[in-house]
Amino acid sequence: MKLYSLLSVFLVILLATSDSDAFTRNNFPKDFLFGAATSAYQWEGAVAEDGRTPSVWDTFSHTYNRGNLGNGDITSDGYHKYKEDVKLMAEMGLESFRFSISWSRLIPNGRGLINPKGLLFYKNLIKELISHGIEPHVTLYHYDLPQSLEDEYGGWINRKIIEDFTAYADVCFREFGEDVKLWTTINEATIFAIGSYDQGTAPPGHCSPNKFVNCSTGNSSTEPYIAGHNILLAHASASKLYKLKYKSKQKGSIGLSIFALGLSPYTNSKDDEIATQRAKTFLYGWMLKPLVFGDYPDEMKKTVGSRLPVFSEEESEQVKGSSDFIGIIHYTTFYVTNHQPSASLFPSMGEGFFKDMGVYIIPTGNSSFLVWEATPWGLEGILEYIKQSYNNPPVYILENGMPMVRDSTLQDTQRIEYIQAYIDAVLNAMKNGSDTRGYFVWSMVDMYEILSGYTTSFGMYHVNFSDPGRKRTPKLSASWYTGFLNGTIDVASQDTIQLWSNFSVSSSL
Ligand code: BGC
Repeated sequence: MKLYSLLSVFLVILLATSDSDAFTRNNFPKDFLFGAATSAYQWEGAVAEDGRTPSVWDTFSHTYNRGNLGNGDITSDGYHKYKEDVKLMAEMGLESFRFSISWSRLIPNGRGLINPKGLLFYKNLIKELISHGIEPHVTLYHYDLPQSLEDEYGGWINRKIIEDFTAYADVCFREFGEDVKLWTTINEATIFAIGSYDQGTAPPGHCSPNKFVNCSTGNSSTEPYIAGHNILLAHASASKLYKLKYKSKQKGSIGLSIFALGLSPYTNSKDDEIATQRAKTFLYGWMLKPLVFGDYPDEMKKTVGSRLPVFSEEESEQVKGSSDFIGIIHYTTFYVTNHQPSASLFPSMGEGFFKDMGVYIIPTGNSSFLVWEATPWGLEGILEYIKQSYNNPPVYILENGMPMVRDSTLQDTQRIEYIQAYIDAVLNAMKNGSDTRGYFVWSMVDMYEILSGYTTSFGMYHVNFSDPGRKRTPKLSASWYTGFLNGTIDVASQDTIQLWSNFSVSSSL
């Protein structure tokens, strides 16, 4: 047995004998959904095929601040390989697949005419999933506004987006709604507004002039709040339409997802406790409070003042209750403190959201925004907070996963350890009363990554990006998830050890 195989077995024994309670798929309700996720620009490729037009993601990856990170022109070629991927999902026993629709593939001008080939692609993908017994979870928007709408009126910082987004959603509900019962309107709305309009690290790459990122336009002190407001209104408008026109027939649910870092006080001082509450108000309450109670948190209104848009009474009523569930995108936890430490990640720039938040955020252990450690207690804290502060809404964990250096190994023990610790955390939160209904691993296969291009990857399947055929090879995490989904892996049993040693001798990159 090779050295790495021995090491692998040793690591799995450690995993299997860790002090987490034993559990299997069967400890979760039958209708709980275990899935895996992708997004259109990161998975599909085929950016100039069959009538698709560029989105802001294409423009951003080709022109802005991206160093050698590459682009999603081909990426894992999901557009051509979707049947193969669905087969892998079916063999895995995946219960749900979360993917997003490329707006500019379906409606190339952003509004108006539907592209028949784009329509056919999504119909075929959904049909393929359903025929394999896999529930589609569709995200309408994952960073990829049609470039034509960005050029015409500036996209999400203009209220015109509300009407266009609602019309696009209408097409999706009408065309796919018979088979799709789970809709997320907008992916990780909070960090979308911050990354895209404050930090300049996501498309369309807006920020105030600063020494870290060279944005061609933007205003970090106002735009994230304007975009955030329009995101909430666009979500609420699509949700209203769904409820009026489709829900009684199609019987689906519609929700908004937020990016939620775990947040924990750096010290046990009163100051750091207060700072953590404030960070939660900004990072979770900014969107959750309007969705549940119809208005922004008072603390944000006080700090951000006239830069924070105001809901009219009618808008407030429309936003309140517009999410049947809350989607949580969670990867890791950060410490929060009131006193400037040496290693703070934020606030790193002049004006903007993090400056307004007014606390310092410190990585746990060796985490950063590119690699991180499992902090499952952080997710438990989020689910408990949502339960207590926002009337215990239904929750789906729509993304959770572990980046590792690309092509480093197929034996991704750390990823398995991470995923099983988080699934355990979800189970604990549910035992404590959280109404969590699903968990999705990011990502099903290796793809083009938003912050790291092709340097790190999250996939349970390795994709060979040098191979024109984009060959998929299972990593150990794929075998682990298969065993877990089939109920044959009990995380604290010997099953995992067996799986590991079988895998180690037969697989290498
Ligand atoms: C985004 C994904 C991204 C992932 C990993 C999430 O916040 O929704 O698009 O690939 O993070 O960085």
